[in-house]
Amino acid sequence: MITISSRLQRIKPSPSSMAGQRARELREQGKDVVGLTSGEPDFDTPENIREAAYQAMEDGKTKYTDVGGTPALREAIADKFRKENSLEYSKEQVIVCTGAKQVIFNAFMSTINPGDEVIVPVPYWVSYPDIALLAEGRPVFVQSTVENRFKMRPQDLEEAITDKTRWVVLNYPNNPSGAVYSREELAALAAVLLRHPHVMVLTDDIYEHIIYDNKKYATIAEVEPGLKDRTLTVNGVSKSYAMTGWRLGYAAGPRELIRSMVKLQSQSTSNASSISQAAALEALTGPQHLVGERLKIYAGRRDYVTSRINKIPGLHCHVPEGAFYVFPLCQGLFGARTRAGQTIENGDDFVRHLLDSEMLVALQGAAYGMPAHFRISFATSMERLAEGCDRLERACLGLE
Ligand code: PLP
Repeated sequence: MITISSRLQRIKPSPSSMAGQRARELREQGKDVVGLTSGEPDFDTPENIREAAYQAMEDGKTKYTDVGGTPALREAIADKFRKENSLEYSKEQVIVCTGAKQVIFNAFMSTINPGDEVIVPVPYWVSYPDIALLAEGRPVFVQSTVENRFKMRPQDLEEAITDKTRWVVLNYPNNPSGAVYSREELAALAAVLLRHPHVMVLTDDIYEHIIYDNKKYATIAEVEPGLKDRTLTVNGVSKSYAMTGWRLGYAAGPRELIRSMVKLQSQSTSNASSISQAAALEALTGPQHLVGERLKIYAGRRDYVTSRINKIPGLHCHVPEGAFYVFPLCQGLFGARTRAGQTIENGDDFVRHLLDSEMLVALQGAAYGMPAHFRISFATSMERLAEGCDRLERACLGLE
C-alpha cells in the first residue's frame, strides 16, 4: 500500500504547470489549441550564455560544486546586488539554488514551525501558499483591489500581523497582476514592518528587469536598510535571461538564514547544476543589451493585448506595470449563458468556456486568489497573441 504524507496532502499541484500540460496533451491529440498560460519567455537563452555552458563542459566543470553555489557565481551575485540594488552582501550571505522556487522552499522549510503564519498578499504567485503549507505553516491572505492597482495597503498588512507571523511575502513586479510598488509605497509597508521585529520579509524580485514605462526598480531592503537583517531578497535568471529550463535561482540575506538554507539543500538536491551555474555567471556578468531589447518587445505586446481586451464587452483589463501577464476581470460576463446553455458563474466557468468554445487555454483567477479574474501570459509571439485575442473576443461575443 502507498501512503501519502499528510504534509503532501495539504497541497495541490501547480495550476500553471497543469494547464501547460493540458495544452500540450490537446495539441498532441491534433487539436488546434492556443495556450496563453506559459510563465516563461518565448525567446531563446542568449548565445553568449549558451556558449559559456558549452565551455564549462569542455573545461570539466561537470562535478559537484559547493552546496550553496560556486564562489565565482556567489561573488557575481553579490556584485549584482551591489550595483543594481545598492545592497551590500558578502558571498557567505548568498545562496544559489535550483530555481527561485527552491530558494522559497528552502527559506520556508528552514524557518517555519507548525502553525506559523505567512502573510501572502492577493493576488499571489500560486506556489507561495502551497510551499508554506508544505512547511506546516498557515498562509494568511491580504486582499487587494483593482482600484488599488492590486497593491497591499499598509493598514491591511498591519492588521494581518500577529504574534505567529513568521514571514511576509512581497512580489513585484507581481505575477499575475504586474503591480509594481514605488519607493514611497514600499517605505509605507516598511514602516509597518519596522514595528514588528519578529517578522521576516521574503521579497521575490524575479521580474525585476521586466518593468515598463521607464520605472525604476526598488527592493525593500534598499528602501529601508533597517529591514535588511531580516529580509531575504530572492531573484534568478529564469525570466530576465530566458533561462527557465536551466533551473537557477538565488538569494541574499542574513548569514544565519542562508546557512540554514544551505544545510537543508545539502540534504536534498546539493548544488544547482554546475553547468547552469557557469551559464548564470555569464548571464550576470556578460553583455546586458538583450534584456532591454526584449523588454521593448514585451511592452509592445502588453499594449496590444490590453487594448484588444479592453474593447471586448464584459472584460476589463488594467495595464500591468511589469512582468508579462495580464489579469483581466471577467465579472461583467457572470450570468451570461454559453450556446450549450451553461451559465458562467465565476472565473473557472469562464476559463472552461474559453477552452470548450475556442480551444483557448488561460488560467483561472482562483489559482491566484481572485476568482473574478483570469490570467493570460503575453510571453509569446504577436501572431499567437493576435490569434488568442481573436478567440477570446469570439468566445465573449458568443455568450448570450
Ligand atoms: N517567482 C515568481 C513570482 C514566478 O512567477 C516564478 C515562475 O513563474 C518563480 C518565482 C519561479 O522561478 P524559477 O524558475 O527561478 O524557479
